[in-house]
This record gives sequence, structure tokens and C-alpha cells, in this order.
Amino acid sequence: MAQTITKYIFVTGGVSSSLGKGIIAASLAKLLQAQGYRVTIQKLDPYINIDPGTLNPYEHGECYVTDDGAETDLDLGHYERFLNVPTSQANNVTTGRIYQSVIEKERRGEFLGKTVQVIPHITDEIKARIKSLGSNGDYDIVVTEIGGTVGDIESLPYIESVRQLKWEMGNHNALVIHLTLIPYLSAAGELKTKPTQHSVKTLMESGVQADILVCRTEHQLGSSIRSKLAQFCNVKENCVIQSIDASTIYDVPNLILEEGLDKVVLDQLQLERHEPDLNSWNTFLEKHKNPVDEVNIGLIGKYVELQDSYKSILEAFIHAGAANEVKVKVKSIHSEHLEASSAKELLSGLDGILVAPGFGERGIEGKIEAIRFVRECKIPFFGICLGMQMAVIEFSRNVVGLTAANSSEMDTETPHPVIDLMEDQKHVQNKGGTMRLGAWDCSLLGGSVVHSIYKEKTISERHRHRYEFNETYKAQIESKGMIATGVNPETALVEIIEIPDHPWFIGVQYHPEYKSTVANPHPLFTAFVKAALKYQTSK
Ligand code: GLN
Repeated sequence: MAQTITKYIFVTGGVSSSLGKGIIAASLAKLLQAQGYRVTIQKLDPYINIDPGTLNPYEHGECYVTDDGAETDLDLGHYERFLNVPTSQANNVTTGRIYQSVIEKERRGEFLGKTVQVIPHITDEIKARIKSLGSNGDYDIVVTEIGGTVGDIESLPYIESVRQLKWEMGNHNALVIHLTLIPYLSAAGELKTKPTQHSVKTLMESGVQADILVCRTEHQLGSSIRSKLAQFCNVKENCVIQSIDASTIYDVPNLILEEGLDKVVLDQLQLERHEPDLNSWNTFLEKHKNPVDEVNIGLIGKYVELQDSYKSILEAFIHAGAANEVKVKVKSIHSEHLEASSAKELLSGLDGILVAPGFGERGIEGKIEAIRFVRECKIPFFGICLGMQMAVIEFSRNVVGLTAANSSEMDTETPHPVIDLMEDQKHVQNKGGTMRLGAWDCSLLGGSVVHSIYKEKTISERHRHRYEFNETYKAQIESKGMIATGVNPETALVEIIEIPDHPWFIGVQYHPEYKSTVANPHPLFTAFVKAALKYQTSK
């Protein structure tokens, strides 16, 4: 049912941050996709960083990586997990990138002596980035999420771009969904609409009328609240959509379906509505909510206090749990709290351990201790990126006998840099966007555990690292029983290590979590959860 022109849905936010614009955008896109429309989602971020790659996870949560090597906002992870369609560089745009490209054009003399200004030059650049996703006929609908909250100084050029695009495209080709919060004042026992009224007015001051309100709330919105919101905010009553707190983000598509969000969107865009096919989605939900067993997995990292820092890993466990009909209880363990003496106490009782990706020295000795414990006790182990590198160090120190082995990231003077800076990283000066990024092929060794899991000879996975397994130590390490079972077919860079003499011990240099979706749970996560369950029953 390819449309001749691409339609645009803009999602703005008001009243408060963290209302879940990304989840609403992804859920709406899911409902439209489930009706046969080709949909993509884009996130516009008002900060001045070129991308979130240089941001500390404490600031911005996980940095998500696309196939084409873009370091992006974690909302892109939700888009992929919901839609099962890969995103790219074009799906995440920041103010930094907009200004960088306008300034480069100015330096090249492309503005022909004109004064370069926010309007029209910055707004034209924003508009071009929005329209480029719809320009090659790949999508019927583009959902564009504007980061931040209306009224923020930083958001103004984006809101102005939305105003212009809506005017140029017309109401049937572009619409604005405004996500707000309806707070509940327990002292008064009432839901309050005033913040939403103000937020809609702030949007109107920039010349943008919201077409649809999506209202985050802890309590059901009654009809009187809905009609009040409609009356004060210039929207039809059926365009006041409740978004009530859900026990899982994966419930949101069904919740907004019940509220008729897809219907009012398609009506305004003059597109036909079909019954959405959510069969496989609902099968996943059914399994997720009715697990037969439960496993306890330890997630060892240095940002464990923040849910968002390991978002894709936690979501991949949800997908893998449903696939196994198992509830995966993830226990976060701070690597700085782990020492030889505390490892046993903190880790025994767990059915599997995942050592997380990361950078820098802090907490790495704790990770190494944890790995020693699970290797010796034959508890299933899964190491991702830094986690894999730490497994190589632990094995080199405690099995191969290279007691001072380390990564040159942590100790530039180590006599045994079993993990070393990649050759083509040695001359890199700038931090932003310069790691080995994005999807690379990996050939799997026949007969290995990973081969039996992937059931393919060549796989493609996403990367984000500067250091690698040092080829010089490969023969020595392999002779003691840790085997490189996946390598890059061109460079022979070691991508996967396994210990065959262990029930489940796998470390991967890449990030499998980025590719796990509801429709396609990642095979490594699924196999790891299965191994954890097996370990639990064998105890
Ligand atoms: N710090 C390590 C490297 O750069 C691992 C990176 C990661 O875990 N993403 O190679």
C-alpha cells in the first residue's frame, strides 16, 4: 500500500522531561507498521554535542550504535526493538551536527555572501534532515521525535522548523502530537490539567497548534478531564489520548490502540485504517508476562545504578526471557564492590554472570575477580566488549601464567598487553566518532558453541571499541583452553572467545544487545538464558 507522498508525524514534549516520547513514538509507529505502512522514526536532539558518543552514560544513558556506525541516542534502540527495522545515521540528528554542517557550508562559500542565521539557514538544515528520510520513497510515514521540552531555548529552532513544515505540507500531510503530564495531587485527590494548558500555549507561542495530546497519567482520565483539555487546548475530544503508566513498555502499543491513537492519526493524515496485526507481538507479551521459570543473572558493570546505562542489555534479557518462557531477574552488581573476598558472597546464588561493556580503569579488577569465580565454579559467563577483554586478561593471568597481563587501556606499561590498542587507532587524536564502529562481519569456527547458536558461518554484529585481542598471544592462550571462535574474515581480529571446557563461557568483542528485538531476540542472549536455566537445575 505504498503511498505516493510521505506523511510526517512530529512528537513534541511538554511539562516535564522523561515522559517517554521515544516509547510513544515507537508504539505509534508499531501500530502503523502493523497495518502495513512502512514507517521509520527519527530523533532530533537539541544538545550541542555532535553525537552522544562522547557523553558519559551518567549524563545520557547508553550510547546506541547503528549498523552504519552512528553513535546515537538510546531511543533509537527502542525504535529498532519495536519495529525490527534497522536505523541509521539519518535517524538521529543533533544541534551540534546541524551547526557543523551549516558552518562547513559557510566556509565553502555556499551561502554566497549572505548573513548566515538561525532562520532560515539552521531551520533549513533541520528541515532538510527531516525530509531526507522521506525523500527516496522508502517510507509512507516518518515519525520525528523532538528531544527536550517545549519552552527550552535549545528546542526553538526545531519547533520553528516543525511550524514551517506543517504550513508547507498542510494538515493532511503533517501533524503534531504533544506529549504532556497530567499530575495527580494526592492532597486534593485530583488530576490537574493546568500544566498541559500552559504547555500547549507555549507551543502556540511558536505558532504550532498541537493536533493530538497524549497525556501521561498515573490515574484514568475521566470524560470531564478529557473535554476540559480539549476545550482549553483546541483539540478534538477524541484527540485527547491517555497514556497511563504501564507495567512494561511493551504494553504501550496495545494501550494506545485502545485509546484510538492510530485512528485519529490516520484520519487526519487521510490514510486508510486497517486492523493492526499484532499477533506475534502479543505472543511475545503473553510469554513475557507468564514465565514458567525464573533465573537470576548478575550484571556486572560500573554504571549499574542507572537503568538507562545498560538499556539494550536489559531489554535483550526481556526478549531472551520471553523466548525461553523464563523471567530473567537481573541483579546489578557494581564492579568496584567486587574483590576476591566478596566475589563468592556477591555472586553465588546467581545462575549466570554478564560482564558489561565499558571504558577506563575504574572497577576492572572487580570484573576480573568475578570472571575468575564464574570460570572456576563453571557458572555461565557472557562477556560483552570490555567484558570479553577482561575474560582474556583473567585467563592470561590465572591460567596461562602471565600474572601481569592487562589491557594497554588500563596499563600502558604492562609487560603482557593481551588486549592492545588496534593498529589503526594508534594515530587517532579526536575522541568523537573515531572508534571502530558499526557492523562488521565475523566468521565462526565450525564446531564451536557460537556456531551452534547462530547456525550460520558468517554473522554481522555492531562494534564500539578501540582495543582488541592481541594476536601475539593467541597461540599461547589457545593452548591453555581459551579458543578464538569468531574472527573478522579480512583482518583476523578476534571477535569471540570461548572456553570449550566450561558449560557456557563466551566473550564477544561486539555488542549483540543492539540487535535484539521483540521479533528477533538475540540468539546469544537466548542461549545464555537457557544455559543459566540449565545451570540452575543442575545445582
Ligand atoms: N574500552 C574497551 C575498548 O575501547 C571496550 C569498549 C566497550 O566495552 N564498548 O576497546
